[in-house]
Amino acid sequence: MYKQRLFAPGPTPVPEETLLELARPMFHHRTGEYRKMLETLTGNMQYILQTHQEVYTITGSGSAAMEAAVANLVAKGETMIAVRGGKFGERWSELGHAFGANVVDLDVEWGDAITADQIANALQANPGTVAVFIQHCETSTGTACDVQAIAKAVAQTDACLVVDGITGVGALPFAMDEWGVDVTVVGSQKALMLPAGLAFIACSDKAWAKMDATTPPAYYVDLKAYRKSLAKWDNPWTPANSLVRAALASTNQIRAEGLETVWAETRRRAEATRAAARVLGLELLSSSPSDSVTALHVPEGVDGAALPKTMAEAFGTRIAGGQAHLKGKIIRFSHMGYLDAFDVLAAVAALEMALGRLGATVDYGAGVAAAQKVLAKE
Ligand SMILES: *Cc1c(COP(=O)(O)O)cnc(C)c1O
Repeated sequence: MYKQRLFAPGPTPVPEETLLELARPMFHHRTGEYRKMLETLTGNMQYILQTHQEVYTITGSGSAAMEAAVANLVAKGETMIAVRGGKFGERWSELGHAFGANVVDLDVEWGDAITADQIANALQANPGTVAVFIQHCETSTGTACDVQAIAKAVAQTDACLVVDGITGVGALPFAMDEWGVDVTVVGSQKALMLPAGLAFIACSDKAWAKMDATTPPAYYVDLKAYRKSLAKWDNPWTPANSLVRAALASTNQIRAEGLETVWAETRRRAEATRAAARVLGLELLSSSPSDSVTALHVPEGVDGAALPKTMAEAFGTRIAGGQAHLKGKIIRFSHMGYLDAFDVLAAVAALEMALGRLGATVDYGAGVAAAQKVLAKE
C-alpha cells in the first residue's frame, strides 16, 4: 500500500485545516455568516492577486472565469489576440470563437514563451484589437512568460491584457495593479490548495470601462451581476458556500505564510526537481521553465505513457503526462501549494523507481541527492 500523493498540476493536495472545513455541516448562504466569509475571502484574494480591484468568486472550474473574461470583454465581431503556446492558450482561442469574436491566433512553439515584442507587433498588425489573452504559466508545457513586460506593451494601446493566472497566481511572483494587468483569472484547485469548483476574476478600471459599454452575451458569468451582488458581499446565484468556507482556510494560510515566502518555496521545489532531472538525464521541455510546473522529456527508450502510469499504480505518485502531440512524450510535476521538501524527494524517488521498473539504467538516489542539495540550503 502506498500513500496517494498528488503532483499533477491540479488538483493539488489540500491542507488538513481546509479538509476539516469541508466536513462541517451545511449552512445557509443568504446570511450574515456567509457574507462575512465572502468579504474576508475577497480581501484574501485581493492580497493574493495584489490588487485593489474587487475579486469576484464564481462557482465553476477555472474555465468559468476564462469564459467570463471573453464573454464580458469581447463583443461579437471584435478582434482579440489569443496566444497559443499550448492546450490552455488554445482554450482562449476556442472561447473567442464560441462568442463570435474575430480571433487572431498568435502561435508560439509549445515550450517557448511569448515575448512582449511579439505581442506589440501583433497589436500593431491588428489595429482595433480589444484584448490580448495569455497564460502566465502555460500548464501543458510548464512555460512561464514575462507578464510584467507584456502588460507594459499592451498598456500603450487601447487593448486590455487578460492573464490566465491559474497556475501562476499564488505560485509565481505576480502583482496585478503594479504590473498593469487588466483582467486576471484564477481557479481553486492549483496553487490555492482547494478542490476544484471556484473560479476568481478581477478587472482593472480600463477593463470595466470597456465592459460597461456593452451587454455581454452571457447570463451566469455576467460580471455586472457579480459586481452588483458583491456590493452586499453576496453572489448572484447560489454560491458553493462550503467551498467558500474552505477557501477561507487555505487563503488564510497563504496570508499567514506571506506571498513572498510561498513564491520562494515554490521556486525552491522547482529548482530541486530540475536539479534531479539534470542528473537523471531528463531534459526540460521548456525554454522558459515555470516554477509552478516542470515538464520533462521522457528519456529515449522509456515508454512515455507507462511512466506516469507506473508512478501512480506502483508507487501511489500521481504526476501528469503530456497533452495533444506531447502525449507519451513528456511528464509534468506540479510544485504548487501544499507540498514540502519531503514531498519533492518522494516524487523524485518515485520517478527513479518507475524509470528502473521500465528498464532504464538508473543510478538510484542520484536524483534524490541532487534535489536534497537544493532543499537543504537555508
Ligand atoms: C487548470 C488550468 C485551467 C482551468 O482548467 P479547469 O479544468 O477549467 O479548471 C486553465 N488554465 C490553466 C493554465 C490551467 O492550468
